[in-house]
Amino acid sequence: MARRKKIYEGKAKTLYEGPEPGTIVQYFKDDATAFNAEKHDIIEGKGVLNNILSEFFMLGLGQIGVPTHFLKRLNMREQLVRSCEIVPLEVIVRNYAAGSMSKRLGIDEGTQLPRPIVEYCYKDDALGDPLVTEEHIAAFGWASQQDMDDILSLALRVNDFMSGIFLAVGIRLVDFKIEIGRVYEGDFQRLVIADEISPDSCRLWDIKTGQKLDKDVFRRDLGSLTDAYSEVARRLGVMPNNPPASGKPTLVN
Ligand code: UDP
Repeated sequence: MARRKKIYEGKAKTLYEGPEPGTIVQYFKDDATAFNAEKHDIIEGKGVLNNILSEFFMLGLGQIGVPTHFLKRLNMREQLVRSCEIVPLEVIVRNYAAGSMSKRLGIDEGTQLPRPIVEYCYKDDALGDPLVTEEHIAAFGWASQQDMDDILSLALRVNDFMSGIFLAVGIRLVDFKIEIGRVYEGDFQRLVIADEISPDSCRLWDIKTGQKLDKDVFRRDLGSLTDAYSEVARRLGVMPNNPPASGKPTLVN
């Protein structure tokens, strides 16, 4: 293959110029990082699993009318996406207390929240992605009020969709992070779900046993990350040896 122009190398993915203007190739690496990249390891097979799982969620969201940047999966490690301008926010949706929220507010991990809570962090690794309010977002012009209304509504739709899919296979969606992109169409801009949706950016607990099936396995040294992600892919019917398009979720009793 001809050498492609690298646009950006992140912690878990590398972005290359796509074959046509306005497209980007996302390459999923096997690198796992945590605690702002203080902990780093190579987990064989993670990139393949995240590529396929992210395809599964992005396609499903597209089918219920939630716009995403996803165009198509190219191979086991790469997908073609629309290029977009990333809104500099990490949008976190929480259904149960865990992680930083439990620490910040002193709520036991696993406590169900009275309703889904959406939080925003300013995307800046050097600052450790600090939590910000809509006041900061408006004052610093990171997103308009109209954008924020749209982002909230997108985040809650993604939450409902993913919570339902996971519930059907015996998994609790505790929380997750999404990123939002701006796509320009003539004079108009549209907000789309960008980046990836995978167990790297969600907390997923087995409903019966409480077993963690997400990146906390790596963060907290709880066993094999590949086994955990493979279990998620297997339950959703998208293990890499099955074509994802025809994969059917497996019901768990
Ligand atoms: N998250 C993420 N990237 C980040 C920070 C958080 O994908 O840079 C995800 C994380 O996996 C979890 C949710 O967002 O599903 C909430 O994370 P939290 O704020 O509790 O942070 P953590 O405890 O992971 O530092």
